[in-house]
Amino acid sequence: MKLSIVIPILNEEDNLPILRERLEKVMLDGQFDYEIIIVDDGSIDQSPQLTCAWIQDNPKVTLLQLSRNFGHQPAITAGLKETTGDAVVIMDADLQDPPQVILEMVQKWREGYRVVLAERLSRKEIGLRRLVIEGFYKFFEFISDFPVKIKSGVFGLMDRVVVDHLLSFPEQNRFIPGLRSWIGFSTTSVHYMREARAKGAPKQSIRRLIKYGIDATFSFSYKPLRMSFFMGLFISAICFIYGIILLVKRLLNIDVVPGFTTIAIAVLFLSGVLLISNGIIGEYLARIYDEVKKRPLYIVARKMSRKENQKELNIQEYSSRLNP
Ligand code: UDP
Ligand code: MG
Repeated sequence: MKLSIVIPILNEEDNLPILRERLEKVMLDGQFDYEIIIVDDGSIDQSPQLTCAWIQDNPKVTLLQLSRNFGHQPAITAGLKETTGDAVVIMDADLQDPPQVILEMVQKWREGYRVVLAERLSRKEIGLRRLVIEGFYKFFEFISDFPVKIKSGVFGLMDRVVVDHLLSFPEQNRFIPGLRSWIGFSTTSVHYMREARAKGAPKQSIRRLIKYGIDATFSFSYKPLRMSFFMGLFISAICFIYGIILLVKRLLNIDVVPGFTTIAIAVLFLSGVLLISNGIIGEYLARIYDEVKKRPLYIVARKMSRKENQKELNIQEYSSRLNP
């Protein structure tokens, strides 16, 4: 068997040495063939150089450099496309996903499971970041039209079959945990403690995380659309009843004082509702526009690798018009 490990990196020069050491130790213990695909998502620090040095020492490592920063999910997709292993593990470079868990996942895979999710028992994020993450997961569980095991992020193992299916999806808005769950096949989990980031600040800003959450929501749920429909229905029903009451009062000539308050509240509330529904429709429309454009998810600038018996780095510049 051969295991592929995909690691997206963005300015992880502080974490790379630790990652390298811990990952290689685990691979040594595992005693199986492997490849490590590092996807440089537009780093501006020493990360690419460090990775090149790593390739010089270990030909099982490959570096894929994207032409700029495309984001976590596109970077992972770029890496997945390069994999040749029978099973693929996706992990972050900041050691929040401990490398030892890989061995457990491989064990489960050998037992015949096609997907192994790494479920976190705890997380070390604090403050606003944690609030955003946990709030999102709760919300997503409620809103999703499709059950996604939400204690797992991208960290996990997929069989070749699952990876190939994932890569065959033409979707632009990719929420990999959701898509992986959508694909199905026999799935199991291993449990681990999510550690704190080893070094440096998180590379996904809160804004990015929120965007990621919105992408996930709208690509896995029609409920927001349905909700704005039902909200409209509900408000119309109330207005109808209220209208009848007003009419009856007018006919019986009870209490006919011009009510500014009622009108003001009704207008403000209804415009709010209309704007929200417009926004919801807009979110879907923007996504449809993205899908229709069919722009590539990422652009690979170059690939660096080394054959076992060769000393020099093999640098492949993708200067032609199209990605391979
Ligand atoms: N990352 C990336 N591109 C980005 C942001 C992050 O490749 O635009 C990488 C980052 O280097 C790390 C992983 O994705 O290896 C997860 O990022 P981070 O730890 O910042 O996110 P979080 O742990 O909050 O999900
Ligand atoms: Mg992290």
